[in-house]
Amino acid sequence: MIDVNGDAVLATLRTLAGFGASGTGVCRPALSAADLAARRWLAGEMEAIGLAVTLDAVGNLYGAARGVERTVLIGSHSDSVPTGGWLDGTLGLAYGLEIARARAAAHPGAPVGIDLVDFSDEEGRFLSCLGSRSFCGELTALPAGFAAAAAAAGLPEVGPARLDPARHRAFFEAHIEQGPRLEAAGRSIGLVTGIFGMRRYAVRFAGRADHAGTTPIALRRDAARLLYRFADACDARFRRAGSADSVWNLGKVALEPGAVNVVTERAELLLEIRDLDPAALDALSDALAALVAETDGELGVRVTLEEMGRLPPVSLDPGLQALVAAGAAALGAPAMPLPSGAIHDAMVLARRVPSAMLFVPSVGGRSHTPVEDTRPEDIVLGARVLAHAVFACADTL
Ligand SMILES: [Zn+2]
Repeated sequence: MIDVNGDAVLATLRTLAGFGASGTGVCRPALSAADLAARRWLAGEMEAIGLAVTLDAVGNLYGAARGVERTVLIGSHSDSVPTGGWLDGTLGLAYGLEIARARAAAHPGAPVGIDLVDFSDEEGRFLSCLGSRSFCGELTALPAGFAAAAAAAGLPEVGPARLDPARHRAFFEAHIEQGPRLEAAGRSIGLVTGIFGMRRYAVRFAGRADHAGTTPIALRRDAARLLYRFADACDARFRRAGSADSVWNLGKVALEPGAVNVVTERAELLLEIRDLDPAALDALSDALAALVAETDGELGVRVTLEEMGRLPPVSLDPGLQALVAAGAAALGAPAMPLPSGAIHDAMVLARRVPSAMLFVPSVGGRSHTPVEDTRPEDIVLGARVLAHAVFACADTL
C-alpha cells in the first residue's frame, strides 16, 4: 500500500493559494512578488523532505533527491495567469511533494529517487513554457523584458537547472483538465494521450476604399463584408474536414480604415486550428486553403493566406500511460483516455524524455478564472493514482 497523505496534498494547495490570493483565485504571474514568495515557500517544503534545492536564474525551482543515480521527475508550475485559479499548475507540485515524501519514507537509501521541478513562466507572461524550455536547453535567448524583471525579483545568478537524460528517466505531470470532458463522462481520472498541435493563420482581404454613402452596394469591393462571409463559412468547412477532437478559433479582426462611413479597404482575420492528429491538422489546413482559393476574387476582393506559426502535436509515452491506467484501475477509478487541448510543460519535456500526464476533473470545466475548482475527493484520488504510476515506474528503472 502506497501511503500518500491526501490531507497534506490539500493543505499544500491551500497554502499555495494564499500567495497572490485574489478572491477565490490567484494572481501570480511569473516573476511577480507572489510568484517568488510561493517558490521560496515551496523550496522550504522541498528541503524539509531532504531534496537538494536550487532556484535558478530563470526562476525554475528544482529539488534533487540526494544520493541516487536515477530518478523519476515530477513537475508542473506555480505561476498563474493574472485571473488564475488555485489549482492550475500547483496540483502537480502538491502531488509531487507528497509522492517524493512517500517514496523516501518507503524506500530509504534506494538507488532510484524522485526529483521535483516547479517550472517558471508556464503561462507565458514572457514566453509560454519558458522554464521547461530552459530546463530542456531549448532557450537560446531570453525574451524582452525578462532580464530586468528577473533582476527586480531578486533571482539569483545561478546557472540553469538542466534535464539530465542519464538521471531523469521519466517525467510525470498531473494537472487539472481545464475542460468539461471528465465531468461530463462522470470520470475522476483522465489519461492524457497527447497534447494538441496548433497552427495559426492570418487571412487577409484587399478591397477598395470608397464613399460609404454614394457607392452602390453592387459596385463595392468591400473587404469587411467578405471577411465576415469567410469567417461564417469556416465552421462548416472545419467540421467536415477535421476529426471529432478538432477545435478551431477565430481571433482578432482588423479593419482598415475601419471608419463607418468608408467602405473597408483592408481586413485581416487571425485564426487557429488544433488537433492531436497531424493528418487532421493537414486536413484542416487544406480546407482553409481551399476556402481561401474559392473566396479569392469574390466582391472584387483579393484573399490571401499566411501561416503565422505552428506547434507540432506531442504523443505521450505509451509505457508510462499504461502505468497511469494501471494505477487508476487499482484504485477502482478506470482512467478515461483524452487528448490535452491546452499546452503544458510536459509538451516540452516529452520531446526529450518519456513523459506522461494525468488529469483530474475541473468543476464545470472552468479554468483560468477564480471559479476554477476540483472536488477534494478527486484531488486526493489523483494523488494516489499518480503515486501508483510513479512508484511502479521507479521500480523498473
Ligand atoms: Zn497549467
